[in-house]
Amino acid sequence: MSNALKVDLHCHSNVSDGVLAPAAVAQTARKAGVDVWALTDHDEIDGVAEARAAAQALGMQFVSGVEISITWAKETVHIVGLQIDETHAGLCAGLAATRAGRDNRGRQIAAELAKAGIADAYEGALKFVGNPDLMSRTHFARYLVEQGVCANIPDVFKKYLSEGKPGYVPHRWATLEDAVGWIRAAGGIAVIAHPGRYKFNDMAQGVLFDEFKQLGGTAIEVVTGSHTPDQYPEYAELARRYGFLASRGTDFHAPGEARVDFALLPPLPAGVTPVWHDWF
Ligand code: AMP
Ligand code: MN
Ligand code: MN
Ligand code: MN
Repeated sequence: MSNALKVDLHCHSNVSDGVLAPAAVAQTARKAGVDVWALTDHDEIDGVAEARAAAQALGMQFVSGVEISITWAKETVHIVGLQIDETHAGLCAGLAATRAGRDNRGRQIAAELAKAGIADAYEGALKFVGNPDLMSRTHFARYLVEQGVCANIPDVFKKYLSEGKPGYVPHRWATLEDAVGWIRAAGGIAVIAHPGRYKFNDMAQGVLFDEFKQLGGTAIEVVTGSHTPDQYPEYAELARRYGFLASRGTDFHAPGEARVDFALLPPLPAGVTPVWHDWF
């Protein structure tokens, strides 16, 4: 299927750390001209049924998805699953286990922020949480912006919530093997999300790609709102070299929070095979 379709295979709703309900995310995507759309909430499939109904009513091809948090080589990496059966028991159990530590981590983040002089951050972040199982650093970021501690969300991550900063709490997520295994067991396709965002050197990144491939992973994101424009051709070349299919998505979280305006996100570069090439 051609590159002419407008495809967005990475979006968040308030079921994870987005701000809009799944049906409202579908409307936003449709208004932006999207033909093929996936909701990929962090570690959670609870929004998929609502998203599917809304997408179909709006005339979009719907793709069920999820974005799983894993720990690989001591770093947090995200693995997107597409075309999953979101009712698959093994996948659902794996995601529930992945979510289980989030509330406790949230309390620890609040304790660290309190030491840095920011009070009541747990309660403050909770006001932004749509799903009590899914407290995210993004909710803390929105609270710190609301409080005027930082001007915007990237600024909060830079000053407080990234590794080495006062509000950072290390966390152990799922393994790469588990995440790819759950996705494949549920009939889905595993995709490395925004590979250009991790702090790996070329050699470590190569090991990640090789391991992912050996486990049955088949795609990487090439054009994503979480890449810089110079990373689009770079990751297109890596997709070709490793024989990965290429995915595209905005990583939309909220109106006004996008790192790249939806309209400016280009199609996949020529010479890669879109992950959706044989879907329709
Ligand atoms: P968590 O899963 O709770 O650790 O939160 C991860 C989420 O934080 C990501 O999915 C992004 O939405 C957000 N995030 C991480 N780093 C940044 C950043 N530098 N700027 C803006 N948002 C970020
Ligand atoms: Mn997020
Ligand atoms: Mn991500
Ligand atoms: Mn995402």
